[in-house]
Amino acid sequence: MKFWRQLKWRIIAGHMLVVIVGVLMLSLMSEWLILRTRPEDLKPLVDALTSANTPAAIDASTAQLIEAFYRDAVSRSLLVAAVSAILAGLLTGAFLAREILQPLNQLTTGSQRIAQGRYSERVTIPSSTELAVVATNFNQMAEALEQVELTRVALISNVMHELRTPLTGLEGYLEGLMDGLFASEPETFALMSHEVRRLSRLVDDLQALSKVEAGQISLQMTDFDLVPLVSRVVAQLKPQAVAQCLKLVENQAQPQIMACADPDRTAQILVNVIGNAIRYTPEEGCITVSVQIADNTASVRVSDDGIGIPTEALPYLFERFYRVDRSRARSSGGSGIGLTISRHLAWAMGGDLTAASDGPGQGSTFTLILPLAR
Ligand code: ADP
Repeated sequence: MKFWRQLKWRIIAGHMLVVIVGVLMLSLMSEWLILRTRPEDLKPLVDALTSANTPAAIDASTAQLIEAFYRDAVSRSLLVAAVSAILAGLLTGAFLAREILQPLNQLTTGSQRIAQGRYSERVTIPSSTELAVVATNFNQMAEALEQVELTRVALISNVMHELRTPLTGLEGYLEGLMDGLFASEPETFALMSHEVRRLSRLVDDLQALSKVEAGQISLQMTDFDLVPLVSRVVAQLKPQAVAQCLKLVENQAQPQIMACADPDRTAQILVNVIGNAIRYTPEEGCITVSVQIADNTASVRVSDDGIGIPTEALPYLFERFYRVDRSRARSSGGSGIGLTISRHLAWAMGGDLTAASDGPGQGSTFTLILPLAR
């Protein structure tokens, strides 16, 4: 770090400059006054001194000579040096004050604007290192706040959009019933009940999402065997897979894999991931669930040969409300929150959830990683 960019050194240099200017002017002025003193001005005094014949007269003449020669020189030098030092002090003071106050004023205005909700506010980075750090931190904070605000706005609009779909459906059925367009028979009520279930599932998902994102989820971390848990989830989802003419197979590399996590939350993640594989794999497809130890972690891989995921969609897959094919996912009841919750849960348990796919039509693989029991 260049030292002259540091405010500390600039302040020290400012003070040193005032002292140097004072001393320099003092010595220059003294030198100049000595050079300027003409011998003929001193001559009468020197003559008086040489002609003095009593000790008292000698003392008086000496004092006169000293007074005439030095007092003038010293007082003038001091005056010029003091004025120069004051001017130098004023100049360096003004420069330093500008250097410090300008960024501080900008920070004050910037923070006031942010407090008023103008999150795009940024300050210019000053040249001195210490203030540059403060300004950079301020800009980073403003950017983070802007991001939070954008996310909040996006969340609200997403929630509204998601709520509107089932509500519009319900409204349509009710109006149809009132106008006599729909007969009040079990089929109509079943359709209405489907929309209500969709609404309540969305509300449940949103509640779970807000909890998991706020880190308020309670976890019962224990050491447990992952193999039977995976078998249980597979057995639970098998009827759904069979109903869609899919093969759901288990591939256990080891008879026992002890993981350290919350068993219920692990099952919740697997239900979501295997459920997605069932949802996004066409008939006659195959889903393989394998449990193994990899890189000193327990991992559960869920591979399907379904519709796959485009490479450009992979980075967004775990974002809230993200769906690759919006219309298709919505018609199947998906709100695009499941994977967000699952990944947050995996993170909260010290693990991770990742997705891979070679592209559309190439199938997908989701891998849940959990810490091994110690
Ligand atoms: P959703 O409730 O819409 O399924 P998720 O968060 O569980 O929400 O999934 C987000 C999106 O990821 C889905 O809408 C789908 O586009 C894509 N996706 C998830 N799993 C798979 C999969 N096994 N194959 C292809 N696409 C998938």
